[in-house]
Amino acid sequence: MAIVLPARHQPPLPLHRLIVRQPPGPEAMEMDVLIVGAGPAGLACAIELSRLAKQEQEAGGALSELNVAVLEKAESLGEHNLSGAVINPRAFRELFPDLPVEQLPFRQPVSREAVYLLTERRAQRLPTPPTMHNSGYYTASICEVVRWLGERAEEAGVNIFAGFPVDALLVDGESVRGVRTTPSGLSRDGSPGSGYTEPTEVTARVTMLAEGTRGLLSQAYAQWQKVGSPNPQLFALGVKEVWETKRPLDRVIHTLGWPLPTDAFGGSFMYPLGANQIALGLVVGLDYHNAALDVHQLLQRMKLHPLFRPYLEGGQLLEWGAKTIPEGGYYSLPERRYGAGLMILGDAAGFVDVPSLKGIHYAMQSGIFAARVAFQALKTGDNSAASLGAYDRMVADSYIARDLYRTRNMRLAFKDGFYLGGAKAGLMTLTRGRFPGGRIAMPPDASVPRETNGAMPFSPDGVLTFGKLDAVFKSGNATRDTIPSHLLVGQDVSPELAQFYSHLCPAGVYEVVDGQLRVNAPNCVDCKATDVVGPRWSPREGGSGPKYRLM
Ligand SMILES: Cc1cc2nc3c(=O)[nH]c(=O)nc-3n(C[C@H](O)[C@H](O)[C@H](O)COP(=O)(O)OP(=O)(O)OC[C@H]3O[C@@H](n4cnc5c(N)ncnc54)[C@H](O)[C@@H]3O)c2cc1C
Ligand code: SF4
Repeated sequence: MAIVLPARHQPPLPLHRLIVRQPPGPEAMEMDVLIVGAGPAGLACAIELSRLAKQEQEAGGALSELNVAVLEKAESLGEHNLSGAVINPRAFRELFPDLPVEQLPFRQPVSREAVYLLTERRAQRLPTPPTMHNSGYYTASICEVVRWLGERAEEAGVNIFAGFPVDALLVDGESVRGVRTTPSGLSRDGSPGSGYTEPTEVTARVTMLAEGTRGLLSQAYAQWQKVGSPNPQLFALGVKEVWETKRPLDRVIHTLGWPLPTDAFGGSFMYPLGANQIALGLVVGLDYHNAALDVHQLLQRMKLHPLFRPYLEGGQLLEWGAKTIPEGGYYSLPERRYGAGLMILGDAAGFVDVPSLKGIHYAMQSGIFAARVAFQALKTGDNSAASLGAYDRMVADSYIARDLYRTRNMRLAFKDGFYLGGAKAGLMTLTRGRFPGGRIAMPPDASVPRETNGAMPFSPDGVLTFGKLDAVFKSGNATRDTIPSHLLVGQDVSPELAQFYSHLCPAGVYEVVDGQLRVNAPNCVDCKATDVVGPRWSPREGGSGPKYRLM
């Protein structure tokens, strides 16, 4: 058995490419507010900004014309978004107080729910822990939610530029002035090919980073400005499928235990999406110890369990996808989520409560707060760090910080394995987070040593279970296969490390051929798992990657 230490082989963040100190060129597009990422956080922010501008106009105020742009890397809105999802509608109610719930983009209310502890053949029903109650919430497809929010934003006059990935922050001294997008039409060797389009520069008085999990620009900003956090951010990888099913599911289901080894943290979900569709997925913390652990493959095995199989038999796989979740919680939040000319929202800031697997309403709420602070800053003409710091205070005084504080050590308790972690998490629930007091310190996921124990063989049947290439096909991935690789692989990749990457990546990007690593970059679905513990990810030409419709 060999030991692999991923951190030793991870290339550093290419900060010189991500933080650009040159002044913007004369062609730069000028905006008041620029939002990177059209997820729930970015779109809620854009909608709230438009609402404030309209209110100002009606009141005859000075700031009635507001230029807001949202830059999104997916070719159409929603195509790069993936979630469970059970949604707490709280932030929707704040953003759309006059709309009845029937007009919100949800599939159905949660009427029943169940939590099970799985063994290989059995499912033992458990009492639902308070953190996992979903009564009053709704199941939804985040792709549909994002498309709907995008329509509301466009109706309100927001400029949405889909197919425009951002790969650099433009800075002046300590201030963020705007961003630069990736070029498109490059040949494989990086030279301009036919259809080459130059990067676009967009400047703004306030830039919002709403780029979701493991945000590249947010990482770069934190490193550049030396913004730390008590614990490093921790991540889980979620692999998800949407099925058309003949047997309706009447409840929201969560499971713990099998097929995960007892030293890994995670669980599964199965949610009804109307009468004949279900969403199911498996989420696993990236601090697992076995280098051969493969989340995609574990999900395939899981579908054959008697709890899931009856729902899938006779049905068909409609869509497959994968994405990471920032799961460190309260102690992994960056010490500040603002700076001169900049605010960081949603998953990019780490606003996720993992015990309840919720992030959408926190993302939207953070977007609403950021909009209010930006609007005030534009009115007073002060976009300094001191002015935008009001955003952190609003988050700290809100349910975002309160909820994350209550479960502050719950994910961290599972550092010692499933059973001890489960017992500690129970005590934390009973004491509303006071046990065990203090903070449980965690290493970064990349610093956890992995043991190469050998993989379990698995042959997909192509009916209920699928290999990675079939899965990527079901993500709708349409990346041009002649673009340069967007993945930065470190030096000295041993065969053991290459095996670890190949199991880790759910999309089959990494393969071991004759003991060497082969990188099939176009397969990438932007889940960011290897960015956490292996090769670095960067945005590629707009429209690359998955084309999710139902996730
Ligand atoms: C498997 C899984 C299950 C989950 N289940 C639930 C659930 O049931 N309920 C719940 O509330 N939450 C759930 N979550 C969490 C929830 O999905 C997130 O918290 C939420 O989507 C965060 O919203 P966001 O706007 O911050 O980020 P995102 O939704 O990730 O949106 C970020 C956007 O930015 C774009 N982007 C990224 N980088 C760039 C760039 N460089 N340039 C341009 N655009 C860029 C992305 O394409 C994306 O559209 C789940 C997450 C996962 C992965
Ligand atoms: S290569 Fe792409 S799909 Fe594979 S783990 Fe990394 S980000 Fe995810």
